[in-house]
Amino acid sequence: MAVLINFKICDNAKECGGIAVCPTGALSYNDEKESIVIDNDKCISCGRCESECPIGAIMVARTDEEYDKLKEEIDNDTRTTKDLFVDRYGATPLSEFFMIESVDIENKVNNDGITLIELYNDDSIQCLLKSIAIKDLTKDLPKDTLFYKAEATDNILEKYNVNELPSLLVFKKGKILGNIDGYYTVDEKEKLLSELDEILQK
Ligand code: SF4
Repeated sequence: MAVLINFKICDNAKECGGIAVCPTGALSYNDEKESIVIDNDKCISCGRCESECPIGAIMVARTDEEYDKLKEEIDNDTRTTKDLFVDRYGATPLSEFFMIESVDIENKVNNDGITLIELYNDDSIQCLLKSIAIKDLTKDLPKDTLFYKAEATDNILEKYNVNELPSLLVFKKGKILGNIDGYYTVDEKEKLLSELDEILQK
């Protein structure tokens, strides 16, 4: 009958899994509009796209009632893609408190403990359900370990030798010990933890 996308939380990526599995072309990416577009005349409500979306942004309605209900649900959704990003490493939402400006990094890491700073840019935003929870990332670290996120600038990338975003910068007592570049999924948790451990042994 119809497919709906909650664009309030959808990251509108060309690589959308829903587009990839749609057998009829009802979902496609329009380069001009830089957006996923829906052609409901082609949708057969097979539901394949729905199960591809890890954040539940794609919904398939099989009746008019269902369509109205889902539409209302989307209209009333107060979340944004930014909310999902803020959650990126967290099973529970992290507050805005964790978001800092890259110019503030030096001030934030200037303490006696460990501080993790995640650098990101818009292209490095990944879905919440595929990422590693911050509580897991820091489970073996001291309780006073701090964690912040900052949008990367060219200066910062150069300063900390970052090759790929997102990048996790690891500081101890104000000094950079190292960084882990690139996106890690839950399957790679152990690898990420062992890299982090190696950096902290320095
Ligand atoms: S429900 Fe099926 S036909 Fe409709 S958009 Fe999703 S994958 Fe395509």
